Amino acid sequence: MNYKEIKINTATPESPVSKIMIIYTGGTFGMSRDKNGVLIPYDFALILEHLPTLRNLMLDLTIVSFEHPIDSSNIEPAHWQMMGKIIFDNYEFQDGFVVLHGTDTMAYTASALSFMLQGLAKPVVFTGAQLPIAETRSDARENLITSLEIASAKIEGKAVVPEVCIYFDDQLIRGNRAKKVESMHFDAFESENYPLLAKAGVSITYSHASIEQADANTKLTLKSSLERNITVLKLFPGITESTLDSILASSGLKAVVMETFGAGNAPSSAWFLKRLKQAITEGILIINISQCPGGMVIQGKYETSKTLEEIGVISGGDMTCEAAITKLMVLLGNYPLYKAKLLIAESLVGEITV
Ligand code: ASP
Repeated sequence: MNYKEIKINTATPESPVSKIMIIYTGGTFGMSRDKNGVLIPYDFALILEHLPTLRNLMLDLTIVSFEHPIDSSNIEPAHWQMMGKIIFDNYEFQDGFVVLHGTDTMAYTASALSFMLQGLAKPVVFTGAQLPIAETRSDARENLITSLEIASAKIEGKAVVPEVCIYFDDQLIRGNRAKKVESMHFDAFESENYPLLAKAGVSITYSHASIEQADANTKLTLKSSLERNITVLKLFPGITESTLDSILASSGLKAVVMETFGAGNAPSSAWFLKRLKQAITEGILIINISQCPGGMVIQGKYETSKTLEEIGVISGGDMTCEAAITKLMVLLGNYPLYKAKLLIAESLVGEITV
């Protein structure tokens, strides 16, 4: 896995307002159609051809491109590690970062990086497009230009949005609160449980009260080790004992994100609770998150969740599935089990309401 660097000094002869690094990973944004009309990732050179306006911005831009841009369905933790390292290594020389990424797994990557980059005080803005930049009605141009504006926004020398976030179709969303909800229209992302960080219209209106404030004294650290032995167990009426058993008996399993009904409810059958309890006794973490995109898990609200609490299932509150999976990867990859267990229910970077 490799990347290459392209430097564009858009600000000459005047001095640049900000220094921004664009990390191009692939996605529909820069795709083009092959002879059969199938969308495939394309080189960043194509993007530059369609974005002459980039050269008019008062920005000092450095572009880092994956050597082989990918459809984001092929993203792997190894790509997150590479992106985390690029940001970490260039952090002191840049004012902010814009990551061009496919929309399919953007919420996972943004969540992962929000947990990996601890002590972040500069913006990392993810964006992409539903239509390739080469197509006339594409949303790519607006998404990128506004993301660059957000990544370079400062008040009294401090970044306005010192967070990992997603800008898409006029909305700025905290990365670990975002979910892809739409694959046809431009409004691809939503945050059901946390307010928008900003809304873009004629001007960009920031919701300062909703934006995490960075502590200027904290140094950026990169938590790059990621535990992959994690799974998702989505409950459904009729789930069988053997299905549950085959999931929980997966070799090396460390944690399960269990997607329950409503406010965190699950079947009360003895076989179900007994098998969960056995897994917990074996040291597997089970995190309860809801299948409902809005609202939160409250273990004990109904009888069907009270026993979950008693046997040691951990409430994931209002975390998204994407946030829960990537938070577990980072915590279990970097901390001992007892510490990871404590931190999972705490808000590390605004991913959960506590
Ligand atoms: N399949 C594409 C991707 O995630 C979709 C997109 O970019 O919107 O890479």
